[in-house]
Amino acid sequence: MNAFAQAPSKTHTVQGACPHDCPDTCALHITVQDGRVTRVAGDPDHPPTHGALCTKVSRYAERTYHPDRVLTPLKRVGRKGEGRFEPVSWDEALDDIASRLQAIAARDPQAVLPYSYAGTMGLVQGEGMAARFFHRLGASLLDRTICSQAGGDALVATYGAKVGMHVEQFAHSRLILIWGSNPITSSVHFWNFAQQAKRAGARLVCIDPRRTETAEKCHQHIALLPGTDGALALGLMHELIQQDLLDHDYLAQHVDGWPALRDRALQWPAERAAATCGITPDEVRVLAREYGSTKPAAIRLNYGMQRVRGGGNAARLVALLPCLTGAWRQPAGGLLLSASGWFRNARNDAWLQRPDLLSHTLGTRRPRTINMSTIGDELLRASSPASSSTSSSTSSSTSSPGLGPRVEAVVVYNSNPVAVAPDSRKVAAGFARDDLFTVVLEHFLTDTADHADYVLPATTQLEHWDAHMSYGHPYAMLNRPAIAPVGQARSNADIFRALARRMGYTEPCFEDSDETMARGAFKAEAVDLQALFDRGWSRLTVPDAPFANGGFPTPDGKARAAQAPGMAIGPFEAAALGVPDHVPNYESVQSSPELAQRYPLAMISPPARHFLNSTFVNVSSLRAAQREPLLEMHPQDAAARGIANGSTVRVFNDRGEYRCKADINERARPGVVNGLGVWWRKYGLAGTNVNELTHQRLTDIGRAPTFYDCLVDVQLA
Ligand code: SF4
Repeated sequence: MNAFAQAPSKTHTVQGACPHDCPDTCALHITVQDGRVTRVAGDPDHPPTHGALCTKVSRYAERTYHPDRVLTPLKRVGRKGEGRFEPVSWDEALDDIASRLQAIAARDPQAVLPYSYAGTMGLVQGEGMAARFFHRLGASLLDRTICSQAGGDALVATYGAKVGMHVEQFAHSRLILIWGSNPITSSVHFWNFAQQAKRAGARLVCIDPRRTETAEKCHQHIALLPGTDGALALGLMHELIQQDLLDHDYLAQHVDGWPALRDRALQWPAERAAATCGITPDEVRVLAREYGSTKPAAIRLNYGMQRVRGGGNAARLVALLPCLTGAWRQPAGGLLLSASGWFRNARNDAWLQRPDLLSHTLGTRRPRTINMSTIGDELLRASSPASSSTSSSTSSSTSSPGLGPRVEAVVVYNSNPVAVAPDSRKVAAGFARDDLFTVVLEHFLTDTADHADYVLPATTQLEHWDAHMSYGHPYAMLNRPAIAPVGQARSNADIFRALARRMGYTEPCFEDSDETMARGAFKAEAVDLQALFDRGWSRLTVPDAPFANGGFPTPDGKARAAQAPGMAIGPFEAAALGVPDHVPNYESVQSSPELAQRYPLAMISPPARHFLNSTFVNVSSLRAAQREPLLEMHPQDAAARGIANGSTVRVFNDRGEYRCKADINERARPGVVNGLGVWWRKYGLAGTNVNELTHQRLTDIGRAPTFYDCLVDVQLA
């Protein structure tokens, strides 16, 4: 019997799933006493969770009952950005929002833009009822590129889908390369398995420009320059060829395009790769020897390394390393960047999101697509004749011509673009437009909510139904509501359901309850639904060593070392085709020497340890632990500028400036500064955050942002 479906007693436990943008997707045990959550803990039986949660979500009750929680609908009474609102009734808010959206849609529904990302990763409260609503409206489509698109598309171009190793298998690896990842901060459960491997004698090598908490605990740290990961991968390939550490049989049987990649790799001797990466040739040679001769060897790649101009090419190159050595032959060998592709045939996406509803409004036409990563430019653009019906921003530069109608309304849910989108001065200016109608579904008055015409109080994960997949493991998950909604909060799905009713949408799908949608999110033929409903999670059937004998999800089962015409997979730009290569940063000595003279420091902006993107910044205990916005700086770079530890500094470039405190230590390598994010702007020393400095140019593959491709200089403030 389902232990969590019993009638609530005074104290009972409810099964949930963590909704946050984290590969671990933990199974939660939520203790409720007299209708109030008293504890949020990890499910000890769920193998990836193993009974433990990160510090952030252990504080979920604090976040849910936070005194600043938005508990009623709010209508703006101050200027945009000021954050002054008055409470209004749900009826008043929804009636007005529906009539404003209807008026805009009557002119052109594409002038309405949904803006959302992974504030919750739930299939229901994310792109569930919201997608049905915006499809029925005929609103602009949103290209959700802001985090993982370059690496994700690179995986598809290489393996055919976003697939990888089982996270539990890392416990049995003998060598683990932790590449562009700080799991102590962002994937603690993977780190647990890596620690098990370490205790059993495995060697851990961290590849990251920053000396992270993880790097400190590995046997070796290779501190390469930002945006040079592709060069390192090519240097490793060169050495694998020279030292004959290739699995020739695996390459012949299971990899297409190897001769072309081999020719490219032979152009990258260790000296060239090392000079590009800012490391020593021996670091390249020794790592190649270890990687090629240790079995099983595994790579935990993460998305930090793909937030640069050449991020897609670099991810393709790293993803090919286990194909060269045959590391895929063993369960504890291979690579994990994302496992979300294991769910591609398990989700009921067409039923959840109803893209067919577009035809009800638009017939055979399709709305344009707006790239969320260039939202600053997009909101500031005037109407112009549309260049195509499918995309306003698809190239790897910023906005392309031909917007179509100006964006007149934005509905934001599960996202805080004013804080997290690049080039935030422009983003804030866009959201400050007097003629932009903005609705924000939120828990708190974030930087984005401060710009809203209406803020609608949304439920947290403890208060609603949802279903989850994961991008770090192959378990389908169910989340049950543990408590009644706090205040007047309503779930995202319920809010869009209510708006649909007011807009006159009569399709039966708008009557589906949240529970119906959660229960229908997965296909019965792919997921053991009984286990999912009884226990809260269910493992997909994925072999332990999924590519031991090839069988990649490509048409011929082979991985792609290079994409020849006719063999290409995935609907990609030209950059994803051909032979992958190192692509230098937009902002680097190599590609922009004049800029590098004026702004000689490369800046990356990895997440602060106690925040998850911009979530949790307002949780007092976590903000207190994080103290204040910091810029990590190497002692040499600080001394050259007369900057002492703890000084207030001005970090600047042509796009803007950001004030924070200098944290002088060797976490930063010389020539690189680390602006820890993502603080809300209003908690910044001068009302800005690190995204004041980042730009809107896009990656080579995936049209994703290039947050870590950014030159700055630093002065005492
Ligand atoms: S944020 Fe990640 S580690 Fe923390 S509880 Fe959620 S899924 Fe687990």
